[in-house]
Amino acid sequence: MSDRVAVRLVKPVGSRVVLETFFGSSGCGDRPNQRHHATAYYGLVDQGVGTAAGVPEPRDIPAGAWPTTCSRCGATTPIEQIPWDGRLIYRARVWDTPTGEIRPGDLYYEACGAARGHACANWADCDGHHLIAVLPAATGKGPGHHWDLAGRASNCDRPADRHHRCWIHQGEPGPGLHVDKGERIMAQARELGAIAPTDLSRYPGTCNAGAGSIIAPDGWHGFLHDGLLLRIP
Ligand SMILES: [Zn+2]
Ligand SMILES: [Zn+2]
Ligand SMILES: [Zn+2]
Repeated sequence: MSDRVAVRLVKPVGSRVVLETFFGSSGCGDRPNQRHHATAYYGLVDQGVGTAAGVPEPRDIPAGAWPTTCSRCGATTPIEQIPWDGRLIYRARVWDTPTGEIRPGDLYYEACGAARGHACANWADCDGHHLIAVLPAATGKGPGHHWDLAGRASNCDRPADRHHRCWIHQGEPGPGLHVDKGERIMAQARELGAIAPTDLSRYPGTCNAGAGSIIAPDGWHGFLHDGLLLRIP
């Protein structure tokens, strides 16, 4: 399933409080070096998007609201023994998906600095919104890295340039979305006669980093071609 995942656009519809704990020193399921990790939702979904609804104080949360089992392997949470610095309380976005959670293949728009009148971290001509693609986790279970299609590739060879894009994406977010190094745009221009059929120079608005694929921090490597996230070895 995770080798080929269709993308679709999703929207945040609110936020909710998450209670999270880590416990044990190791031995979570098939990952012997990882601590157990448990999360639970608390309270109602706040419909406001982007509002600072805040989080409750730890002492206001009933003991029974904390997650009772590890979300990965099902081990019982020894909640009374977990100190406060081993517990997290934060707000997470709720999405217009069946569970409210983000999934591999989901696309969403994220505002960058340019939307608030600051400079975009990467580009001088940014419109303030970056399209993000949620990759599958390298383990094949659940969502992995959130790929900023308007991000800068770690191996960008024009790091001071604020006008190109390291990845070129075209098409609406969904089945028609395609990411490469501009090869398709150049091919279309040749077909339309906008450039000479013999002109095989590369797309001028990109750099020399990569071939249009993404290597996520967790090791997932693949392309987004024609609306599909395609894993490559
Ligand atoms: Zn576990
Ligand atoms: Zn930007
Ligand atoms: Zn670049």
